[in-house]
Amino acid sequence: MELRERILRLALENAVEHGGKALLDPVLRRVAGEFPDLRQRLRELVPLVEEILSEINLLSPEEQRKRLEELGGRAAREKRERRKGLPDLPNVEKYERVVTRFAPNPNGPLHLGHVRAALLSYEYARMYGGKFILRFEDTNPANAKEEMYGMIKEDLEWLGIRWDEEFYQSDRLELYYRMAERLLEEGKAYVCSCRAEEFREKRDRGLPCPCRELPPQEQLERWREMKEGGYGEEGAVLRLKTDLKHPNPA
Ligand SMILES: [Zn+2]
Repeated sequence: MELRERILRLALENAVEHGGKALLDPVLRRVAGEFPDLRQRLRELVPLVEEILSEINLLSPEEQRKRLEELGGRAAREKRERRKGLPDLPNVEKYERVVTRFAPNPNGPLHLGHVRAALLSYEYARMYGGKFILRFEDTNPANAKEEMYGMIKEDLEWLGIRWDEEFYQSDRLELYYRMAERLLEEGKAYVCSCRAEEFREKRDRGLPCPCRELPPQEQLERWREMKEGGYGEEGAVLRLKTDLKHPNPA
């Protein structure tokens, strides 16, 4: 692209972003930023830039926009709003209180992905004057590491995160069992003993597995057998009866 045209485009962008008036210094900075080959020549470019500015600053904003579009410039830039803080949560008015949680597995130290989740959950609770819960997902004793509980809490505190309540899932197994039984009794969950691939293959075609439709009484029997280890490790799982047409059914 010709030199004049290159500068013209940047000057027009600057004008469109700043209410129709481009200024010498910002345009020169932009030239230096976008065209490294011109960096050494900025001083000698000043008369040309001034000439371009006097030309485009006479145009109406519509004309500036039009010419910028013809040159393939980024008129959209002016529309980009700078957002401060977090976006609102949807449907928040439908609930009495915003309650969020961070649920790390104490099998290792926090990584950046955890930190992001923890900060967002904490900040959203604060933004709405709600409650933030720390819950350790430690129902699998095989991979929980004793020293990680303290380390995770220390890291969260270091990040400035304070939690209102703290739970250990391993303390609450009886509660989870009771809830599981209730779901089975009400026909809202089932014990599935299919092989994982077989289950997945049916699910992906929107079909129920044979376990899903068994009556609650039988489900409860399977549940007891599962708890007693009758299916062996990972031989059966409790699944929630979600809509089979749901994009991610269980
Ligand atoms: Zn099944």
